[in-house]
Amino acid sequence: MCGIIGYLGNRNAYPILIDGLKKLEYRGYDSSGIAVFCNNGYKICKTKGKVSELEKKIFYQKKNMIGTSGIGHTRWATHGVPDNINAHPHVSNSHKLIIIHNGIIENFHAIKIILLKNGFHFKSETDTEVLVNLIEYIQTEHQCSLEEAVRISLNEVIGAYSIAIVERSNPNTMIVAKLGSPIALGIGSNEKEFFIASDPIPFLNYTKNVIYLKDGEMAIIKKNEKLDLRSIVNNHKISPVIEQLQINLKEIEKGHYKYFMLKEIYEQPKTILDTLRGRLLNQNGGIICIDGIELNKKIFTYAKHITIIACGTSWHASLIGEYLLEKLTRIPVEVEYASEFIYRDPIIEKRDIVIVISQSGETADTLSALKLAKQRGSFVFGICNVVGSSIARNVDDGVYTHAGPEIGVASTKSFTAQITILVLLALTIGKYRSTIDKHLYHNLCEELGNITEKVFCTLKIDRYLKEISKKYCNVKNFLYLGRGINFPVALEGALKLKEISYIHAEGYPAAEMKHGPIALIDEKMPVVIIATKNIHYEKIIGNIQEIKARKGRIIAIINEEDLQIQMLADHIIKVPKTSEEISPLINIIPLQLLAYQIACIRGKNVDQPRNLAKSVTVE
Ligand code: GLU
Repeated sequence: MCGIIGYLGNRNAYPILIDGLKKLEYRGYDSSGIAVFCNNGYKICKTKGKVSELEKKIFYQKKNMIGTSGIGHTRWATHGVPDNINAHPHVSNSHKLIIIHNGIIENFHAIKIILLKNGFHFKSETDTEVLVNLIEYIQTEHQCSLEEAVRISLNEVIGAYSIAIVERSNPNTMIVAKLGSPIALGIGSNEKEFFIASDPIPFLNYTKNVIYLKDGEMAIIKKNEKLDLRSIVNNHKISPVIEQLQINLKEIEKGHYKYFMLKEIYEQPKTILDTLRGRLLNQNGGIICIDGIELNKKIFTYAKHITIIACGTSWHASLIGEYLLEKLTRIPVEVEYASEFIYRDPIIEKRDIVIVISQSGETADTLSALKLAKQRGSFVFGICNVVGSSIARNVDDGVYTHAGPEIGVASTKSFTAQITILVLLALTIGKYRSTIDKHLYHNLCEELGNITEKVFCTLKIDRYLKEISKKYCNVKNFLYLGRGINFPVALEGALKLKEISYIHAEGYPAAEMKHGPIALIDEKMPVVIIATKNIHYEKIIGNIQEIKARKGRIIAIINEEDLQIQMLADHIIKVPKTSEEISPLINIIPLQLLAYQIACIRGKNVDQPRNLAKSVTVE
């Protein structure tokens, strides 16, 4: 997690750094800090809290941050509480070296003991302070350059990192290195001005030329000189590959929306269309064309088993994928939490397919699972949103969701984009294997073609949801129920509420309620139940009766023409009817909006919920 930023060139670094940190804040925001270098030293400022606090502190302390190189960090603590001392940048004992770091140094404790024995002392509890002192120790012992000391030290380190480090006596050189955590290098005018950041968004205003550092690479950046890229392991020179960024600045602005999350919820008709664009070629003829799938037609057709691996919201999309793939392709599917998969010697074989799903493409657990699956010889297929991300680069093949940058920490549009891809995938493989009925295939293609219009209509219930939200914004618990393909939608609805409003919420398969959660139901318990028309409809009505008999408050998501549930529920939320297989694309919309409205009424910062960060780059 955490966002790191750096600048080296001829402009004043501070405004670039502070503005960049604001753009990276979605990655971590428990504390932040900046160091700006000039010929006679450096100025540093760190504080607990958001980047706006840092800006204020710098202003009130009249710190004149003037210099043409600098580094900044917005933290998501892994080692040590979020406070002024643990905030980055960290400075080595002799004040010679200044570092920022994203990731975890797993063997920091062993290194710390050695350094303590050698007279080093530590102010913070972080693993990062250990790393910067290790580099200082090595530099002194070996009497070598900073780049050599960084290289030797990183070869001693176990864990994940993206770092930027500067020597006080040489502010025109910056060493940047990566293993596990992401880092992008922006190449500015004449290839002699450099930006570094955890993602390219902070330097979009200045350059569209980017190099994504790969694992095990180290960049030696010198003002007014060409970039020198090397291997951390053997110091071999590497030729940099400069890519052109395709992101449009408008995509990363809030526009007239109060929060990015709301903007992203409202963007879904467009983002689903973008996901389908060029892929669902003729909705009536049912032509689906996705290179990543077509090129691997044989592998998909003869697959014996599929494992889908993900975390968080992507894990919920994976459960929907399981339902779709099993139904339409008859291939057995298992869904795994990435963090569990990597530590339990999973049984995967050569002809198995492993699908990894991650919005950011940087989720550390999913990346580790991908590597394990590849070691075991399975074919790994990725579904990611961020182009060029680590997962996208490491899979055998895959597809992008093309949902555009998602800034709100609680995922919304990436969820619906992932489901859209999974529907297309299941339809295509089902067709290859002749396991899908022709009529159903054509019907689903047609429904997919109409889905964006229906999602657009669903968004109109927002105003009504505000009313419901006012009634329930102070309750302590919520229950979310769904059946079949809408059970994962219930899980996702509960997750959204937890994440941004801090109300405890649980998602359950509706029929499981009587095996436990029913004990929680009383007149204070709101139960959100997904009750759109499908094969489970009669059963769902039974579940509603059970809740009603115990005086629970029912908020039911129903289809427009449904009169029966209307009579039973306390509140009804009407959504357009579609095929059961793609109904999650519609049914999740009111749940996202409900969570959003409740969180707003409770006065929470929806885009930056406490303790969370957007891309989870630590295991
Ligand atoms: N492990 C470091 C710390 O706790 C960096 C965490 C991060 O990536 O924000 O300070």
